[in-house]
Amino acid sequence: MPDVAVVGSGPNGLAAAVVMARAGLSVEVHEAAATIGGGTRTSELMQPGHLHDICSAVHPMALASPFFRAFELQRRIDLVVPELSFGSPLDGGRAALGYHSLERTVQALGRDGAAYSRLLGPLVSRIEGVMDLTQHQLLRIPRDPLAAALFGLRTFEQGSRLWNTRFREPLAPALLSGVAAHAVSHLPSLAAAGAGLMLTALAHAQGWPVPLGGSAAIAAALAADIRGHDGVIRTGEPVESLRQLGGARATLLDVAPRGLLHIAGAQLPGKYRRSLESYRYGNGSCKVDYILSGPVPWAASDLADAGTVHVGGTRDELARAENEVAAGKHPERPYVLVTQPSRFDSARAPAGRHILWAYCHVPAGSTRDMGEAVTAQLERFAPGFRDVVVQTHVTTAAELASYNRNYVGGDFSAGIMDVRGLIQRPVVSPVPWRTPVPGVYLCSSSTPPGPGVTGMPGFFAAKHALKDIFGLKVPALGIP
Ligand SMILES: Cc1cc2nc3c(=O)[nH]c(=O)nc-3n(C[C@H](O)[C@H](O)[C@H](O)COP(=O)(O)OP(=O)(O)OC[C@H]3O[C@@H](n4cnc5c(N)ncnc54)[C@H](O)[C@@H]3O)c2cc1C
Repeated sequence: MPDVAVVGSGPNGLAAAVVMARAGLSVEVHEAAATIGGGTRTSELMQPGHLHDICSAVHPMALASPFFRAFELQRRIDLVVPELSFGSPLDGGRAALGYHSLERTVQALGRDGAAYSRLLGPLVSRIEGVMDLTQHQLLRIPRDPLAAALFGLRTFEQGSRLWNTRFREPLAPALLSGVAAHAVSHLPSLAAAGAGLMLTALAHAQGWPVPLGGSAAIAAALAADIRGHDGVIRTGEPVESLRQLGGARATLLDVAPRGLLHIAGAQLPGKYRRSLESYRYGNGSCKVDYILSGPVPWAASDLADAGTVHVGGTRDELARAENEVAAGKHPERPYVLVTQPSRFDSARAPAGRHILWAYCHVPAGSTRDMGEAVTAQLERFAPGFRDVVVQTHVTTAAELASYNRNYVGGDFSAGIMDVRGLIQRPVVSPVPWRTPVPGVYLCSSSTPPGPGVTGMPGFFAAKHALKDIFGLKVPALGIP
């Protein structure tokens, strides 16, 4: 019997397994799917030689997450950092451009450049404090109170109806809302503003990297380290009950609260069980993958160099689309998140071909194919787009939920992204990773600090399990 059983091989399950195996414990990972990785899988979805990221594609946290820094991920895989992190096209062939360089972004924003610089500059220069604030539990005393105050004030401004007060033109607001809308939330809202400002500041501080070979490279690096420390990873092994895991001294579950109820429901005390039963999931996403016969013919040609493009138009248009989703509707003109991996990694598609990764938000549980609505938005800002499409693959929110049990209703954040949902993840507790069942920990993105490929929920759960059960401290995680 191993010392530690980990259920689920998403980045958080693998991060937890790395920490436990590095501490000298015997570790077994059980993954329901046929391949490891959870939200970090890359595969030939449509045709040989075309490698699509099924879920995550762009990784600001690969450089910024304290876990990945300690793990020295940057030395284990190749990360390309596009100089143009993201952009937002507007009608008329214009685009707002968010460069890695803050100065270049400020110049490109023209009359609103100085206002943008005053908003982002202080966060970029105190990025370590911003990360300390956002990569831990929300309710704790921040290490850098000045960074927390600067971040809090700006979040309040950008998360309220004050959000346009400092700007005179549409470019900067569209740029900021394009990032804030990642949060699958109302616009404006505090949670979306906080997530958006953190991600935007990271873009200027270090860029938004794309892993060569796709997101699966991250899962492969974690798995190699686990195996290198005698850990075992079993795929095609769904865990339906704690009994299945025998007598492991510690069990770390990379599952959503619904999964925890399924696996350990009978052992959970009533109050905790009821909290999990009333846990709030967010809205879903509909993924649209393309094979293209050439690059996207953006009307704003600068966007050809962007790692990520936030398609949907002005701040008002993005807000309308996101608020429709929040109201349970499918927007006719959705906000579309687009990445262009083969622009930076030629091995992702055969010569002359490109792959394009896109998704839009939809109401929870939606079975609607949004392929045409997404294509129409791309055609709007890239006339001639339809002519370069070779093949399209759509995954509805309901299909995403079947693909990965953690994506309840197609919510890949595994929990709603509002302020309450960030604090109550899944319960309000000084150690939310610890469950009332002795030895059982939750390590998925349904625990702090929440979604994204960060490894941090897995790291925190492992840290507490090491201390509680084995009396051990977190070991060194870097390349030996
Ligand atoms: C379309 C899409 C785009 C995204 N884009 C980005 C992006 O660009 N950048 C970014 O940082 N993040 C992105 N994300 C989010 C990111 O993928 C997730 O936040 C992250 O993967 C969560 O990690 P996790 O380990 O908590 O869970 P997951 O990655 O979801 O992994 C959970 C694993 O546990 C397994 N599992 C669950 N229950 C059981 C069980 N009972 N038995 C055995 N195995 C089980 C599942 O099969 C799965 O493999 C995206 C997600 C999606 C879907």
